[in-house]
Amino acid sequence: MTNILPSYLRDQWWVPEAGALRQDQGPAQVRDASTGEVVTSLDTQGIDLAGALEYARTVGQESLGALTFHQRALLLKQFGVALTARKEELYELSKRAGATVRDSLSDIDGGIGVLFTYSSKGRRELPNGQVYLDGPVEPLSKDGSFLGRHVYTRLPGVAVQINAFNFPMWGALEKFAPAFLAGVPTLVKPASPTAYVAEAWVRILVETGLLPAGSLQLVSGAVPGLFEHLRLGDLVGFTGSASTASRLRAQAAPGVRFTSETDSINASVLGPDAVPGTPEFDAYVKQLLVELTTKAGQKCTAIRRAIVPADAVDPLVAALREKIAERVVVGDPRAEGVTMGPLVSLAQRDEVLRAVGALQAAGGRIVLGTTDAPHVTLADGTTGAAPDGAFVAPILVGFEGDGDALPDAVHEVEAFGPVASILAYRSVDEAADLVGRGGGSLVTSVATVDPAVAATLLARTAAYNGRLLFLDRDDARSSTGHGAPVPHLVHGGPGRAGGGEELGGIRAVLHHMQRTAVQGSPAMLTALTGVWHQGAASRSDRHPFRKSLAELAIGDQIASPSRPLTLDDIETFANFTGDRFYAHMDEEAAAANPFFPGRVAHGYLLVSWAAGLFVDPEPGPVLANYGLENLRFMTPVSPGDEIRVVLTAKQITPRETDEYGEVRWDAVILNQRDEIVATYDVLTLVAKEPVEETDAAAAASATAEVGV
Ligand code: NAP
Repeated sequence: MTNILPSYLRDQWWVPEAGALRQDQGPAQVRDASTGEVVTSLDTQGIDLAGALEYARTVGQESLGALTFHQRALLLKQFGVALTARKEELYELSKRAGATVRDSLSDIDGGIGVLFTYSSKGRRELPNGQVYLDGPVEPLSKDGSFLGRHVYTRLPGVAVQINAFNFPMWGALEKFAPAFLAGVPTLVKPASPTAYVAEAWVRILVETGLLPAGSLQLVSGAVPGLFEHLRLGDLVGFTGSASTASRLRAQAAPGVRFTSETDSINASVLGPDAVPGTPEFDAYVKQLLVELTTKAGQKCTAIRRAIVPADAVDPLVAALREKIAERVVVGDPRAEGVTMGPLVSLAQRDEVLRAVGALQAAGGRIVLGTTDAPHVTLADGTTGAAPDGAFVAPILVGFEGDGDALPDAVHEVEAFGPVASILAYRSVDEAADLVGRGGGSLVTSVATVDPAVAATLLARTAAYNGRLLFLDRDDARSSTGHGAPVPHLVHGGPGRAGGGEELGGIRAVLHHMQRTAVQGSPAMLTALTGVWHQGAASRSDRHPFRKSLAELAIGDQIASPSRPLTLDDIETFANFTGDRFYAHMDEEAAAANPFFPGRVAHGYLLVSWAAGLFVDPEPGPVLANYGLENLRFMTPVSPGDEIRVVLTAKQITPRETDEYGEVRWDAVILNQRDEIVATYDVLTLVAKEPVEETDAAAAASATAEVGV
């Protein structure tokens, strides 16, 4: 009896009862991509999907809801560390699916990289709380007592991931990380051919003992009736073919957030300036080689259409042929020296060869490579036929004519393997038209050093792409590559690519949350968001710089005394800093300026004075000032005016791993008429616990009068 790959449901490993196994055709067998040996079997007879979803919505929601964004972010880092420690196991296992070491770099290291990236982005860009504020405060009444603001709170359901076979680890982790950070539990359904790799990384995470209860579940195999159990508040993140996506989208109940990343006939344009002999031509050839051979071309982002100037077609094919002969060794990834593995399965190989046949039927001619089964390097290092391995050699398909004369099939048929078409163009506009005919892509790359070519292609093709990469002599070495989505940037694309653009960066976290406009008084918005709003209560007991995070509360405030400004002050500041801009130094020229009544104080003088007015100088819990944000000067200050500052603790973000945290202060500089001179946020680092005070500080603290 074959072993059944377990699922992980309700925080336990699960396989069907022996008696419940599929009687009709038996469990689905998953085979080694190079040898055809059975690796594992899949069967989910009797699986309780409704129960698993409900467990996520209750137990998973509760355990993740008890954590802040930063606490979840730190767990992601720990998951990354755990997977890194056991990377070798994952590399070995992935070889069974046809992945070479280089392929696993993108899947395994790429997946781990996603966890680290989201961990640090989460701690840098999200508050250490549970509500995310979107955009500025909108004052909705003249007296400031009624405000509006947009907030994001997490969805109450479960994030169901249905993933493609080609990236069993990265493809899942790029969705798991943002869902987890948002506080939404995940149920992963990997594609059958590589489900055992997904099971392995899930097992490693389970074995850390760090997964919050119900935050991650895995279904190894079919998910019959899954969509019947989904409801408002749940999400489906689908990755796979466009045809499966449209079938599943139709099954999603209203209110279920369904997004898809599907197949895409990505383009790569060789600019007219990138003639043979230029660094851009060389970079283009190298990139095309990488895209054809990495994961044996089984990448949603791989180049399917090489769009090149008509007179560059032959030199490009020749250059690529040379590179393939030099660099490509097709074979079993377990053998030394193999640089390109098999496709994931014989079924996938047949599918690819069928697609090549469709391109040929539409007028294509194989200009490089062959559809014959290649002789390959076998696991023992010998060379020979591998009848049970899913091997295909790199193939380039050429077409007669250019532009509109090219058949539709070249823009429509996805051969999900080491296959690309080479298409000729005669003008940059024609190249742009060809890119657009892909019907919406994940990525297009352009090799050019000419900004005019790049600008035309940006204007004409960006709307058809989720990502554009411009390759030139300066970034050719450092570029992450045409086919590599990065966790910081959008992954997805319009039209045929699925219409998804939610993955990449903090927008992917927000995709798992609901944006709601919240209206209320300053006090209510302060209470709901944990961020002090102008107009809410403030407290001026002790100087807030004498308070550690344990003592400080939002709304703690210092209102300084006033300080008068003289012409001498302006001149001293100008001479000291060297900033002798005419608005400060030349009465006549300043008065002629539309914004100033005459000579005025430097804005930086005012900000410096404000610091002098609000700072409490003795050593204490405030450790450092690390910046200002949103600084705006609103009313000029002339000699004879006075300024004062009101500083209020606005947001407190303790760091999970340090003995200090960030405090954002609301700073308002006012003049003697109470007009606002400047507003900004002051950013400081403050100790969590009271620090031992010097005698002077203790005395200052005891006597400080900080009332208005
Ligand atoms: P697929 O055949 O469309 O399958 C995708 C996923 O859907 C698999 O997990 C599959 O599970 C599942 N699925 C199929 N029918 C289902 C149903 N009725 N209910 C629930 N789940 C169902 O695609 P694939 O062969 O795995 O992947 C290759 C394709 O994915 C290519 O076309 C490629 O371009 C695309 N892709 C796109 C991206 C992207 O980001 N845009 C990334 C990678 C791949 P089973 O395997 O168990 O059938």
